[in-house]
Amino acid sequence: MKVFGILVLCGLSLCAQSLERARALWRAHDYDGANNEFRALVKANPKNAAYRVEWGRLFFERFNPAEAANLYNEALGIDPRNAQAYLGLAEVYADEFSAKADQAAEKALEIDPQLYHAHEILARIALEDDDTKKAASEADAALAIEPAALDAIAVHASIDLLKDKASDWVARIGNRGKGFETIAHFFVINRRYDEGIEYYRKAIAATPDLWSAHSQLGVNLMRLGNQEEATKELQLAYDNHFRDAATANYLTLIDSEKNYDTFTSPTSVLRLNKKEADALKPYFEAEIARAMATYEKKYGFQMDKAVQVEAYPNHGDLLVRTLGLPDEAGILGVTFNNVISMDSPSGRPPGSFHWASTLWHEMSHVYVLTMTNERVPRWFTEGLAVHEETATSPDWGDRLSPEIITALRDKKLLPISKIDRGFVHPTYPGQVIVSYYQAGKICDYIAQRWGSSKLVDMIHAFAKNERTVDVIREQLKLEPDAFDKDFLAEIDRQTGSTVKNFADWTKKIKEVNELAKAGKTDEVIDQGRAAEAMYPDYVETGDAYSLIAEACLKKSDRKCALDQLGRYSKEGGRDAATVKKYAKLLEEDGRLKEAEAALERLNFIYPLDPDLHDRLGNLYLKTGGANLAVREFSVLNALHPIDTAGSHYNLAKAYAAAGQKNKAREEAINALEAAPDFKPAQTLLLEVSGESEK
Ligand SMILES: [Zn+2]
Repeated sequence: MKVFGILVLCGLSLCAQSLERARALWRAHDYDGANNEFRALVKANPKNAAYRVEWGRLFFERFNPAEAANLYNEALGIDPRNAQAYLGLAEVYADEFSAKADQAAEKALEIDPQLYHAHEILARIALEDDDTKKAASEADAALAIEPAALDAIAVHASIDLLKDKASDWVARIGNRGKGFETIAHFFVINRRYDEGIEYYRKAIAATPDLWSAHSQLGVNLMRLGNQEEATKELQLAYDNHFRDAATANYLTLIDSEKNYDTFTSPTSVLRLNKKEADALKPYFEAEIARAMATYEKKYGFQMDKAVQVEAYPNHGDLLVRTLGLPDEAGILGVTFNNVISMDSPSGRPPGSFHWASTLWHEMSHVYVLTMTNERVPRWFTEGLAVHEETATSPDWGDRLSPEIITALRDKKLLPISKIDRGFVHPTYPGQVIVSYYQAGKICDYIAQRWGSSKLVDMIHAFAKNERTVDVIREQLKLEPDAFDKDFLAEIDRQTGSTVKNFADWTKKIKEVNELAKAGKTDEVIDQGRAAEAMYPDYVETGDAYSLIAEACLKKSDRKCALDQLGRYSKEGGRDAATVKKYAKLLEEDGRLKEAEAALERLNFIYPLDPDLHDRLGNLYLKTGGANLAVREFSVLNALHPIDTAGSHYNLAKAYAAAGQKNKAREEAINALEAAPDFKPAQTLLLEVSGESEK
């Protein structure tokens, strides 16, 4: 049929010529030229599906999967039984870790059972889900049709290698670099970056002009902090026309590294953007040290290499780090072996991001990945990291969100034997977030029922490359099904009432917000309390705690306001204005230590707020925390506040209180340089100068 179409519409020789020309240009790396030929060909033959499919392949190869998918879909519009178009779609979806890939591949096979590439794609997806049985059987199906099917051979080899077994399949790859590249891919998505790098090198040794492998080698070297060789490989790929998003963006990222300062200690390397380094450094350094000391004790393990932490003010730079990895929706940080890349507090709207939680989360990955030599299922390392966020401080970490409540209501949690799929190939929007929540709760539950040390036992079991179901049986003495049953009962105990009340709460909280707008204080307090009881975790915009506190203050009921704002903070509320209001009330009541604690929470959320450091520094001066006051006023100065003289003077006072006379004198002089007639600074200068002469 298709051949007749060609004959009728453009005459065999003419069309064949254009097609040959398009292919020749493609081979010669003249992609624009090839694209133009295909465009003309398709225009002259609007009813030809095959041309569109081949044009789609050009787009797919040239890093434009969206346009490729359009062309495949157009081809299917012309010829609904075009197996090659379905195969093309399966490739596009598989690359994006979309759950639609399976379906497209199945459809291709239904139309053309000999299409062994479709079996290879199914094998690949199954192995990404850690379903080795299905992966092996799909690979076998491909090999039954084509005994030399490279991806099928590579999938078999990967199954063995991921289990740390020697594999006869590796020899069957021969000198076909792409086979080694596939093995490398599986190591990388299992977070085994060192072995991934080893196999990309093998791919290049076998096929030196396999530019995709050069690029991925560069990407993964960069992930582990080997910038020099990474740059060389990425540039090489780029210069040879391999210019996918990862290659181009990584090269840009490397170029921007010059904007970073590096601070090293014997155990850590901290990289911060020059424009905010002085303000962030004290908090980051303290938390890195505290997290490492905590995990060292908790996990009974000491890192033998430095942990590197890099914080990006531009969220896009963090996203570049995760290109080509499974869905990282809402990502805040990512860990590659001992290298952590995360958003800087400046990379997110103030109040929306708890950077210390993210740091402790990623830091837990560093330990677990190192302790298991990267042999740990995704759900467990994520679950433990989420567990650690709230184990550190109960008000850290994420609250039960409406998205998660909906998933709980619709019974969407996965059995523990399949939970990894929720991370790699999500089947509904938000499933990745729900999977994080579930994995975190599983670890909470294990710690609560079997003790925290059981989680450490599980780390050691996973280090032996044991599978989830075996670890559950062995460590918890439960069948996975029985574990699921007990776990779901516990989740229901914790969240059942919130889930049940969610629809009513949605109406109620809207009502409370309207009452607040109308100034009806008594009703706000009444109805607000009902809303709180229905969904206590809700501390986002328009939350009941803040509205009630506001109403209480209008009625001059300080005790009621303090109680509400205290609960807001305890539940993890992060809005700076609300927390500052709470601290101010406490301070006015002479509860200085509590006021300090309230404000200290904000340093873990948005430490780039000059007003916060001013308030906190003054509190520390009152409570005798001179060294902490020095920290707060130093950071305040680093943020270049409007009142230059005042902030230098405050720092001078803090230094004087801490007994650092020389520093105090220096800062008093700085204050006077900004405002020569500033009396308090003159007095202080005399004081510290006088005393130092004694
Ligand atoms: Zn994580």
